[in-house]
Amino acid sequence: MFDILIRNGIIIDGSGKAPYHGDVGIKGNKIKEIGELQDEKGDVEINADGRIICPGFIDVNNHSDTYWRLFVDPDLESLVHQGITTIIGGNCGSSLAPLASAKTIESIQKWVDLREINVNWLSEKEFLKVLDKKGVTLNFATMVGHGTLRRGILGDELRSFNAKEIKFLHKMLKRALKDGAIGMSSGLIYSHAKTAGIEELVELSKIVKDYDGIYATHVRSEQEGFLDAIDETIYLAKETGVKTHISHLKVMGESNWAKMDEALALISDAKEKGADMTFDIYPYTNTGSVLYTFLPDWVTEGGKKAMLYKLKDKEVRERVVSEMKSSPFDYSKVEISISPLDKTLARRNIMEIAKSQEKSVEDAIIDILIASEGRVIASIELLSEDNIRKALLHPLSMVATNGSGYSIEHMKSGEKVHPRSFGSFTKVLEKYVKTERLLSWESAISKMTGFPASRFGIWKRGFLKEGYFADILMIDSDRIKSPATTKSPYQYSSGIDLVMINGEVALNDDKFAGGKNGMVLRR
Ligand SMILES: [Zn+2]
Repeated sequence: MFDILIRNGIIIDGSGKAPYHGDVGIKGNKIKEIGELQDEKGDVEINADGRIICPGFIDVNNHSDTYWRLFVDPDLESLVHQGITTIIGGNCGSSLAPLASAKTIESIQKWVDLREINVNWLSEKEFLKVLDKKGVTLNFATMVGHGTLRRGILGDELRSFNAKEIKFLHKMLKRALKDGAIGMSSGLIYSHAKTAGIEELVELSKIVKDYDGIYATHVRSEQEGFLDAIDETIYLAKETGVKTHISHLKVMGESNWAKMDEALALISDAKEKGADMTFDIYPYTNTGSVLYTFLPDWVTEGGKKAMLYKLKDKEVRERVVSEMKSSPFDYSKVEISISPLDKTLARRNIMEIAKSQEKSVEDAIIDILIASEGRVIASIELLSEDNIRKALLHPLSMVATNGSGYSIEHMKSGEKVHPRSFGSFTKVLEKYVKTERLLSWESAISKMTGFPASRFGIWKRGFLKEGYFADILMIDSDRIKSPATTKSPYQYSSGIDLVMINGEVALNDDKFAGGKNGMVLRR
């Protein structure tokens, strides 16, 4: 007798193996039995005839923590509708713990008024406990942000560490890993971390390796310096032996697109030679990030304050404008997503803004950066569709959103979110599996479940196996759809008929069924 019995499914178990027909019996929060269970009974029986039964998706590059969604709107519905049951936070160098002091949180907070949130933790242990108590809709695990450690110790100072500080830095990382963090992430494109040298990262990664954690990195350049950034990452992987993961692998600007072939070859080659490499991608050609990261690299060197100082200098500004005009980026395609200091800018194309202010697109961008002290999120169409296909086909790739969870209600805030937060996983299934037949169902699903689970050390999840946690999806392949677009992102995905998290139904017939049945996961 099971609590729930799913009958007659097409079972895709997350390992990449071919699908087979079978039944899944669930007892409590675990999978009790898989196979031919026609003689068995369940308190609840679900007929899965013609539909795929697979593990819940694991999103290894999620920002619901540092965008404060876990606190402000913890249902994370846009993620549940695309079949995600586990998210990993602390990405791209930024995590909500550990905090060296209460002041550290101010440097991490980006877009939310922190007065709404009671930040009553410092250590990783305390942070995870707060989440335990609050409850989470999706299972949540986190890495330690290298930028969070750095800012905790150095504040706004941009420099390398002295010997005493290094000791403290290492101690903080070790403690957080002991407390349950699953690894460390870096965001080497962001102003503060840009000053971190490779040796600092190598030493920290050795600690991560000691705890069998993962090192995930938003590499130092996704433009001209892309291949050097890949080389730097491979060097670290070889030097330390740490599990190394490149977050949202991509290269921006048409004149840089050809570099993707070489990057993928470098990664394969490094893997063959023993470097432990993987990467994730999201399936959209527009990229959403902090606006200043789209400026030429030298402008943001030295940090945000230095950048604003440079932009305010007449001669430097002229040089920036002229470089922007001759760069491979089409700045006229910039869309302002969030600008907390000037909400009237939200949802506006830079061309419209420039026109209304009677200035060039480049000048408009610089003025917005100055007026909002660099705190603007923007989106531009800068990526290659072909590169997405190549990366998806690569054996070391997995699928992730690089987004956060939202409800459709969030539209009212005027913020224009990236469609990846609503449709990454379902878009891969709809477009690259179903329509283009680039990947098989089992191989795509393995890149969303078993592969990320093994890679990030997510215990007893990611596979349909007896004794594993019952994070389970039922997918109607005929109905699978990812309607969210850059123009109209606030649209839930459909075709995921059922989402079960730890044996409880979180989504049924495209309707969110309530939550807080996720678990806070520890290393
Ligand atoms: Zn990133």
